[in-house]
Amino acid sequence: MKMDQMLLGRRSVLRIVACLGAAATAGALFTEQDPSPGGAAAPRPATGAPAAAGPPVKESAYRLQPMTADAPPRFRRALPPVRSRPFERFQEAGRSIVLTFDDGPDPRYTPGILSTLREYHVNAMFFVCGEMATDNRDLLRQMAEDGHVVGNHTWSHPLIPKLPPSKIRGELSRTSEVIEQTLGAAPLWYRAPYGAWNRVSFEIGAELGMEPLAWTVDTLDWTEPGTRTIVRRVLDGAEPGVVVLSHDAGGDRSQSVAALRSYLPGLLDAGYHITVPRR
Ligand SMILES: [Zn+2]
Repeated sequence: MKMDQMLLGRRSVLRIVACLGAAATAGALFTEQDPSPGGAAAPRPATGAPAAAGPPVKESAYRLQPMTADAPPRFRRALPPVRSRPFERFQEAGRSIVLTFDDGPDPRYTPGILSTLREYHVNAMFFVCGEMATDNRDLLRQMAEDGHVVGNHTWSHPLIPKLPPSKIRGELSRTSEVIEQTLGAAPLWYRAPYGAWNRVSFEIGAELGMEPLAWTVDTLDWTEPGTRTIVRRVLDGAEPGVVVLSHDAGGDRSQSVAALRSYLPGLLDAGYHITVPRR
């Protein structure tokens, strides 16, 4: 236990250093795969989120919201910066969309998702669960080799606000360790199961060097509503800056796999760029 704590301490320090570097470029977290800009300026998404107001952020093509400025004052001096809300979308990004897949990897469904993404030369984000990742490290490696972003979705997919801080830390840190052991780099993004965050999870995520990412468009694919319904939800919800939530594990996800084959070319035909954040 003591050794674990020492290791954790060392890792935290390393990640704080990494995170400080990342914070300096916080205005440019997202990059487009396609180097050509999306043409006309994107309208500012109407999320109702307060505009960022803290320290000046370098002008960039991509600016996430919300930023740290809406954090309660007592977090202001925390290092690394601790957010009080997850990112939900990004703005000023042209016709860009982020696709995310949660709960995997699952050898039954993840390969189908990966092959479609590969076919269309686009990258996505995979928020993996540690207990799935540790048994499917080849899929984890495939994600990274294909240029996808691997994020942390806790070890066992618990409802975070029900857990004591020590268990939240364990859920997130164990998962980050599996990813780091497998890919050589710890994840820079995490997502709370069920989108249920709390203050402690933001603090621990920050200590581990990760930013919280939620979503804008929920396909509700886990309810198995039918492939056409999933496709319609994505295409209806498509607008510049949205983050789409789907799943590649956690049940029968054959509809999710089939839907991607339909809505991905649809999004590309509509002129969207499929992007991932780069930190
Ligand atoms: Zn999940």
